Amino acid sequence: MLKGTGVSAGIGIGKALLIEEHSLEYTPVTITEPQAEIQRFRDAVAATKKQAEALRSSAGEKEAEIMLGHISLIEDPFLTGEIEKLIGGGQCAESSLEQMCDMFISIFSAADDDLTRQRAADVRDVKAGMLSVLLGIDEVKISDAPEGSIIVVKELTPSMIAEIKKENVAGIIAETGSTTSHSAILARVLEIPAVMSVDGALMSIMGGDTVICDGKTGEVIVSPVESELNEYIAKRERFVKEKAELEQYRGKPTVSADGTKYELVCNIGKPDDAAKAVENDGEGVGLFRTEFLFMDKTSVPTEDEQFDAYKKAALILKDRPLIIRTLDIGGDKEIPYLGLEKEDNPFMGFRAIRYCLKYRGLFRTQLRAILRASAYGNVSIMFPLITCVEEVRAGRLLVEEMKDELREEGIAFDENIKVGIMVETAAAAVIADVLAKESDFFSIGTNDLTGYTMACDRGNGNVAYLYSVMQPSVLRMIRRTIECAAKEGIPVGMCGEAAADPLMTPLLISFGLTEFSVSAPSVLRLRKNIASWTKERADEVATEAMKLETRYYFLEVRGAAEGF
Ligand code: PEP
Ligand code: MG
Repeated sequence: MLKGTGVSAGIGIGKALLIEEHSLEYTPVTITEPQAEIQRFRDAVAATKKQAEALRSSAGEKEAEIMLGHISLIEDPFLTGEIEKLIGGGQCAESSLEQMCDMFISIFSAADDDLTRQRAADVRDVKAGMLSVLLGIDEVKISDAPEGSIIVVKELTPSMIAEIKKENVAGIIAETGSTTSHSAILARVLEIPAVMSVDGALMSIMGGDTVICDGKTGEVIVSPVESELNEYIAKRERFVKEKAELEQYRGKPTVSADGTKYELVCNIGKPDDAAKAVENDGEGVGLFRTEFLFMDKTSVPTEDEQFDAYKKAALILKDRPLIIRTLDIGGDKEIPYLGLEKEDNPFMGFRAIRYCLKYRGLFRTQLRAILRASAYGNVSIMFPLITCVEEVRAGRLLVEEMKDELREEGIAFDENIKVGIMVETAAAAVIADVLAKESDFFSIGTNDLTGYTMACDRGNGNVAYLYSVMQPSVLRMIRRTIECAAKEGIPVGMCGEAAADPLMTPLLISFGLTEFSVSAPSVLRLRKNIASWTKERADEVATEAMKLETRYYFLEVRGAAEGF
């Protein structure tokens, strides 16, 4: 049996589909028969075009448009002509292709206008596709996974998840990643059982093997014997039954055992997820991660495209709250076409609000789109990765400027739109008293707050023993943030993964959290859990918990706590 970290509950049973990354490296050679090499290049052009056309006919409208752009690049007579000239001079097809494409990439990347810069990403994609064909690499695509597949991959990226057809994928096994990595969060939203940090998965599992993965315990069984198979089939049935029992909490308000009401909302990444929030009985959206709109594309979405997306979510939610977080790129969320430089320390680097306050054109466009959507629902704006007051002031100033513009243009928006911040850095938690005076609400991002407080990367297995929201330092950050918000009389939610952890519930109730924002499938389970706590009992647990000097003793107290 293999063992990893269970990151998305449920039992997956199916046939392994290995997604392996292939290196596009090659050794350049000098060509003695240029004509044959030119023919090899032309064959590769034809094959790449055929692949792009096939993708275009099976894709949605937007993807089809992108593929059309790729096809026109593949066929571009200037590009192909120049590549053939280089081959004629004795260079092999691979290096000729790379040289010309790299030249275009650097020209396009240096352009002033966004559109031209985005063409660089298209050239990059086309280059990679043609190199794969020339090198004879036959890649298995995640989007082609047949029904009942268990995906086995080294690293599952958010863009891979975007390609997954949920109905075909029974489970996911990745060699890296952790509970709070973005792909794990997305797997939970899709309710696909997933296990990450499984050492040597790609070595131990062969394509086509029958595999079981338990997304709760992290167990992975390859080629199970009949008794194991039956055991897990029964486990899967129990999981489904337990889920059905939670249905009694559907349509009920979220209240503690002694009658305090809480807001129980969802985290989403796409406008359509708002429907999932409603389906799962979420009371709104506490975090719309807008970066996924950007990651799904090969160029920056326009103001109208963003407006349509935000408006769509607002209309689905009707008068339920919708908190839209402005672009939070960087860290593990890469957007290749933005051309961000590689950094030694990306989690501490040029990301999120820092990027937006520098590239104001992009930020203004997003703020205008959100403001316009605010005319259609109960929309708020939230800034990520705040570390100091200046960032909040600068962001709010831009919101006001965009409001002025829209007023002048006679475009409707919500004049009283609320502007809040994520408290997800140690700096923000420490100055939460000051930030509370500048913000309409807080939302605590424990995924990052844990990482920044404990100085450890959420995706790095070697420091995973430190990465815990249960560390006294992180708990104090959370308590302080909630207390500062209460003092200033502003609402304070939590949208990090800890919001759904039943073991955190008594502490959060005791500290005075007002809103829990979780993945849609967690709504009913958390409502049930909140209903089991009184303030008095939650205070007792919290008092004991906050006396602890280490995390480990705290685990014992939690184990003994009522209701677990
Ligand atoms: C967080 O950091 O807790 C959070 C909700 O933001 P993200 O996971 O998108 O970084
Ligand atoms: Mg965060």
